[in-house]
Amino acid sequence: MSMHKTSAHISAAPDVAVPDAPAGRSRQEVDFWIDCVGAPLVLMEGQVLNVRYANRSAAVLFGRGLEGFGGCSVEELVGPEATLILGQIWSVAPVGVPGEPFLIRAQVQDQERVLMVQVTKVAVEDEILRLFSFMDAPPQGSVTLAGWQENVTSLLNWLPFGFEIASSDDQIQFANSTFKEMFGYTQDEISNIEDWWRLAYPDPDYREFARAQWYDSIAIARAENREMTPFDLDVATANGGKRTIQFRHRTIGNFNVNLYIDVTRERSYAKELKVLADTDPLTGAMNRRRFFEEADRIHAKCQRSAAPVAFLMLDIDHFKTINDCYGHGVGDRVLIEFTRRCRDVLDPGDCFGRMGGEEFAVVLSRPDPVAVHDAAERLRRAVGACPFGIDADLLKVTVSVGGAICVTDESVGSAISRADNALYDAKKAGRDRSIVR
Ligand code: GH3
Ligand code: MG
Ligand code: MG
Repeated sequence: MSMHKTSAHISAAPDVAVPDAPAGRSRQEVDFWIDCVGAPLVLMEGQVLNVRYANRSAAVLFGRGLEGFGGCSVEELVGPEATLILGQIWSVAPVGVPGEPFLIRAQVQDQERVLMVQVTKVAVEDEILRLFSFMDAPPQGSVTLAGWQENVTSLLNWLPFGFEIASSDDQIQFANSTFKEMFGYTQDEISNIEDWWRLAYPDPDYREFARAQWYDSIAIARAENREMTPFDLDVATANGGKRTIQFRHRTIGNFNVNLYIDVTRERSYAKELKVLADTDPLTGAMNRRRFFEEADRIHAKCQRSAAPVAFLMLDIDHFKTINDCYGHGVGDRVLIEFTRRCRDVLDPGDCFGRMGGEEFAVVLSRPDPVAVHDAAERLRRAVGACPFGIDADLLKVTVSVGGAICVTDESVGSAISRADNALYDAKKAGRDRSIVR
């Protein structure tokens, strides 16, 4: 840039950076060189940013005669906001070397203009002044913009999630390298949004679901002028894999910014944890907490539709004796086999859980009391009809069952308590039997 050369001429050599004792050029010499430069130049006092001298081009830019600059403040030239920024521009370059160019939005002669500004410290006589060069910002960016662009691109590529800028018609304008690595598709493969839908969601039904999810969520977010509520979708990758992606989206100006966060691992851990949290580790049956959640859900659903619902409580007979005679390990295997047999005779929609110890419970939806009695008896027979073969031993195991058919508006707690009473009565009546009320 010619301006750089000029600046070098009018100031001390670049390596002579001694602000306290500047080897200053004479004022006349500096003014002479400033006038030789075609770009608008303004020489300011170091601290307060008042004009000391300006060249002819500056006079044209700021619309005042050369004498009209005397002592005027920079704020009068570029407006208060740009002044704030100019005050913040600290050139770290040595005396005589132009600093990094900056873009400022300036108020010049009552018009907003984007100007590219460079500050050069110059030593004039015995003080350091600041020489501002103002140029209209080139439309295609500037040195600084290019530098910024490079930095921002590196930053975006470094982000641990896919980042994409799309135009308002969803065509990709920029995608960071994480996005490319995440899915493996080349720019050519997904240059068109339809290609993306087809590759990312090969199953047509899921594709339509994904598309609806995407456009519906965006429409709501736009209507409310906010970020889209994030959601997950399973996306097919170029190497035939599948990833669970959290989608985030925001419209900024004319652009859509999309974030793609790979949550495959987190979601699969969450699923595993959920299974662990819901399952009795010994038998694999639902644990007590989960059973009651399910019981509440089924009960509420049945009550809404006036469908019948019943609860059964099961308690293995003389289980303590099994433990005492054969050991705890055998007792455990009896519990496992017991669970298997019960599940075998239940319907897939029935809910079976371990309440604790050798006590289990079932929620049943059956059309009438006879069917509930029948289910209770099937369970009892499945356990007691043939002995449990554990290692070389054949163990006779029986179970007592108490049941309650929910009456209108009866709570889960009340029905379970009635089923418990029925179980108690079945035990009292000699065990290996079922009583349903
Ligand atoms: P009843 O016919 O009256 O139900 O008699 P019971 O022996 O089955 O009843 P009790 O409540 O006296 O005994 C239950 C036993 O179950 C006592 C406890 O040590 C045993 N138990 C509880 N949890 C487990 C377990 O996870 N594994 C094994 N092996 N035993 C368990
Ligand atoms: Mg018991
Ligand atoms: Mg028992």
